[in-house]
Amino acid sequence: MKKRFLVFLQLLLAVSLSAQTGTKYALVLHGGAGVMSQKSMTPEMQKAYLSDLNRALHVGDSVLASGGTCMDAVVRTIMVMEDSPLFNAGKGAVFTHEGTVELDASVMDGKTLGAGAVTGVTDVRNPIMLARSVMEKSKHVFLTGKGASQFAVEQGFKPVPNSYFHTEKRYQQLQELLRKEREAGQGDKHGTVGCVALDRYGNIAAGTSTGGMNNKRYGRVGDAPIIGAGTYANNATGGFSCTGHGEYYIRLGFSRDISAMMEYQKMDIQKACQLEIEKLTKLGGTGGVIGLDKAGKVAMEFNTSGMFRGYIKSGGEKYLGIFQRSETQH
Ligand code: ASP
Repeated sequence: MKKRFLVFLQLLLAVSLSAQTGTKYALVLHGGAGVMSQKSMTPEMQKAYLSDLNRALHVGDSVLASGGTCMDAVVRTIMVMEDSPLFNAGKGAVFTHEGTVELDASVMDGKTLGAGAVTGVTDVRNPIMLARSVMEKSKHVFLTGKGASQFAVEQGFKPVPNSYFHTEKRYQQLQELLRKEREAGQGDKHGTVGCVALDRYGNIAAGTSTGGMNNKRYGRVGDAPIIGAGTYANNATGGFSCTGHGEYYIRLGFSRDISAMMEYQKMDIQKACQLEIEKLTKLGGTGGVIGLDKAGKVAMEFNTSGMFRGYIKSGGEKYLGIFQRSETQH
């Protein structure tokens, strides 16, 4: 009885919040942050990126519009970007130093604080689905490499050859980096994907998927599969997905820190994301974050020259962008 009353109260709160803001549901996504400028991207490239971001946005929107859950919306949206060769996730992900692709992904459910993550995945087409299975079908939160593959097979995922993920563009990027023998073997090509959604029931979910850093080695793991660094969701505050130089995000406990500022200091989501980006800048890191709070307020903050990003809300409000706000808005 008590439980039912609590659920009723929760629903009432969600309905009254959405009545205040007029937002029944909302979805925000990113396709990576990095060095991007109008000059360095041809109009055709911009069009191609915007078209895939738009497609992903509308897939998520239709899930939410038809009464689907935020977790379904996040996973389906991210799958579109994983399947697109343009982003550093799934097909088209960056290469490791050894010339293979190793993928990381995570999801988090803001209602239950349930989470699932995988790292070093070499043979699953959509690592975001595997992360969700870890959350829903295993007793664990985080699986790595061979174990993750074994779990995937047990869950009925059909393995794909590692060559499925390879694209000529990423291969040339690796060759270029190898030629330059970059410091610590790390590259600077971003393109991770992420999504946060708020559904009609007042629940929030977040997810992130990536190939990691270009030319990575020694089994390096970034922030994307680490709950509290690259991904975090809590109905009490909001949901967050990050992109950028993962080592800095891990050190800051980036997304959990944003949630803590909102929870303990009652800070607004945009302010909290801006402050966290300032901390990142002070530490010498680069990247961005997207977030969504329980009222459907969106944050999209970054300290790079660009971040592929967009959002859509139940009332039809929509935004797509690549560069700093001053450069373009779609
Ligand atoms: N954050 C990712 C990582 O460090 C890379 C990125 O977002 O571009 O693995």
